[in-house]
Amino acid sequence: MSILVIADHNNQTLNGATLNVVAAAQKIGGDITVLVAGSGAQAVADAAAKIAGVSKVLLADNAAYANQLAENVASLVADIAKGGYKYVLAASTTTGKNILPRVAALLDVSMISDIIAVESANTFKRPIYAGNAIATVQSDEAIIVGTVRGTAFDAVAAEGGSAVVEAVAEVKDAGISKFVSEEIVKLDRPELTAARIVVSGGRGVGSGENYHKVLDPLADKLGAAQGASRAAVDAGFVPNDFQVGQTGKIVAPDLYIAVGISGAIQHLAGMKDSKVIVAINKDEEAPINSVADYWLVGDLNTVVPELVSKL
Ligand SMILES: Cc1cc2nc3c(=O)[nH]c(=O)nc-3n(C[C@H](O)[C@H](O)[C@H](O)COP(=O)(O)OP(=O)(O)OC[C@H]3O[C@@H](n4cnc5c(N)ncnc54)[C@H](O)[C@@H]3O)c2cc1C
Repeated sequence: MSILVIADHNNQTLNGATLNVVAAAQKIGGDITVLVAGSGAQAVADAAAKIAGVSKVLLADNAAYANQLAENVASLVADIAKGGYKYVLAASTTTGKNILPRVAALLDVSMISDIIAVESANTFKRPIYAGNAIATVQSDEAIIVGTVRGTAFDAVAAEGGSAVVEAVAEVKDAGISKFVSEEIVKLDRPELTAARIVVSGGRGVGSGENYHKVLDPLADKLGAAQGASRAAVDAGFVPNDFQVGQTGKIVAPDLYIAVGISGAIQHLAGMKDSKVIVAINKDEEAPINSVADYWLVGDLNTVVPELVSKL
């Protein structure tokens, strides 16, 4: 069986999420090909060729794929998939979620979103109702198309493979969308979904100014990424891409510290698989209690600085 994995990248570096997708592909079993669709993306293809367990890398290098316009990439992926692949997998990232439904539509198959476990070659588990129930889905489609939740699969080694890199000459430019601009927030801290430690703040921190005053020293001490609840994002304390949860990012770090976050199910959906959860909240009845391993009841404005002073 042949599996096509769509690389997640920025034309220069391969996003680590691709390593988790390859891990899921290995659980299915079969020949794994990684497709790098980009522009000036040779370095990404070279990195993909070194991933343990990858047998081939396809590099479609053209300006039409420079910004991962879903219309162009999906058309390319669907064409390649028809050439003999049984599976098409991508990470459950913004890019993967943008491209794969279009691929499924072009192939006229249903798709499986957010795979968290591979039960057999055609049976997968995926969360539903914001992770409150797990569905077991069996697919009889000729080509199985699915996004993979990275936090559910341990990444394969980035080094150790020696796959061949083949160029794809075909250019798919649908001509129906164009890249206008992007604003990328430059962070000195680790990326939220890849971080080992995450410090998140909720409405309880009170303001953007207080978020940084109280939580930055803690994140600095721990080398942590910073996250937030939707209430904190909606109130403008921090940018949108800090949001953890059902409609934000899904994280599963070794340590998640939730400060002034009540623990609504939509927030828990994004962090409850974290290995150790610490909650700091003045309300001892807050629902985050149900998932916290350590539970510190107190005013965050005094408790967090005290914690920082002891680290
Ligand atoms: C369709 C949908 C999708 C959603 N998606 C998301 C999502 O992706 N992510 C997300 O987070 N939410 C999401 N939500 C919103 C969610 O329902 C909650 O409204 C939100 O998570 C609440 O954020 P919060 O815990 O920061 O705020 P609150 O619920 O207001 O909790 C604030 C907490 O801070 C504590 N606190 C206050 N002051 C202090 C202090 N001085 N010291 C210590 N503790 C203090 C309070 O006791 C309270 O527990 C979604 C909702 C819907 C309907």
